[in-house]
Amino acid sequence: MKFGGTSVATVDHIRNVARHVKREVDAGHEVAVIVSAMSGATNQLVEWCREAAMLHDAREYDTVVASGEQVTSGLLAIVLQDLGMTARSWQGWQLPIRTTDAHGGARIVGIDGTELIRRFAERREVAVIAGFQGVYPTTNRITTLGRGGSDTSAVAVAAAVKSDRCDIYTDVDGVYTSDPRVVARAHRLDRIAFEEMLELASLGAKVLHVRSVELGMMHNVRIFVRSTFDKPDHIDPHATPPGTLICDEGEIVEHQIVTGIAFSKDEAQISIRRVEDKPGVAAAIFGPLAEANINVDMIVQNVSSDGVTTDLTFTVPAGDYERASTVLNRAKVAIGYERLDGATDVAKVSVIGIGMRSHAGVAAKAFRALADRGINIRAITTSEIKFSLLIDAAYTELAVRTLHSLYGLDR
Ligand code: ASP
Ligand code: MG
Repeated sequence: MKFGGTSVATVDHIRNVARHVKREVDAGHEVAVIVSAMSGATNQLVEWCREAAMLHDAREYDTVVASGEQVTSGLLAIVLQDLGMTARSWQGWQLPIRTTDAHGGARIVGIDGTELIRRFAERREVAVIAGFQGVYPTTNRITTLGRGGSDTSAVAVAAAVKSDRCDIYTDVDGVYTSDPRVVARAHRLDRIAFEEMLELASLGAKVLHVRSVELGMMHNVRIFVRSTFDKPDHIDPHATPPGTLICDEGEIVEHQIVTGIAFSKDEAQISIRRVEDKPGVAAAIFGPLAEANINVDMIVQNVSSDGVTTDLTFTVPAGDYERASTVLNRAKVAIGYERLDGATDVAKVSVIGIGMRSHAGVAAKAFRALADRGINIRAITTSEIKFSLLIDAAYTELAVRTLHSLYGLDR
């Protein structure tokens, strides 16, 4: 059972969480609990680090920001004990949750779940584990997993104790076909395949940390997204509550061709004009960007018509746009291009569905529908189970709603 920041926002909220936990334990389930920091707490901690020094030691940053989860793990253990249960808190270094040394964005390497299983079996002791944090054994320093990382802690612990399911209690009651704030007719999905969820999460849906879905897929941990605000005592612990199960595609009986529409306005487009069409040019462009840790997403290159030069377009996160331009301007001579054009008022709209693997013409329908609404497409990329379109940001909502109806997703 994992509870996010809004679920533990106050001590009263934590009492609500404790009742969810008690219900499951009373029903005979063996549980471990993972908690985030109180909502807003991590932002405050990050802010304090910045205030202390704009450039700071990443190890000390982790020491500071990991503390939010320490507080909530202890508080939940206290409240559970107050309800007459046996419970104790565990920090990442105590379990331990072993990670890499990439401070601020570490990856989990291993967790030994035997102690948790033993303690629950022997005395029904509920483990309350601080999410988001771990330890790098070689230096024995506290690490954190990157913002939103407690989902990943939860799935990793679920895998370590071989649990049947990892329940993510959050402020929404599941995964929707699109953002309900934009598409009023979006509906909650009962089930979604790992691959689809991975695309949704990577492409802008903010329900889950991307890495948590990856881990779930790797270890086949079924993830169930459900609401923390459903009254704990009104839920039948043996029935299926409202929520979305993220699972292997084999568990999904009824397949839609399209499962969801994601979008992100946090995109910038960079076009490199009249770059020489010869071996090594792409390497000269993307090498320096990779070194600067800038994530490149859509890449479109045309086949040159004169055999001499071509244009190359790609997207980067809007926040990295200035940096990317600087890097490319600096490498201008080495790359050899005429001009760099950029745009930050662009958005990426993506259509996702496993059914695309076996259906032709899915994307063609979208091109027609957008054309009918006068929406121009700047770039297109596709993979087996999704395609993404880069458009002017002003048309995002219209495009998302159009595609949502087009593929029969409207409630
Ligand atoms: N508290 C951390 C954050 O705000 C981790 C999490 O909540 O998932 O990023
Ligand atoms: Mg989160």
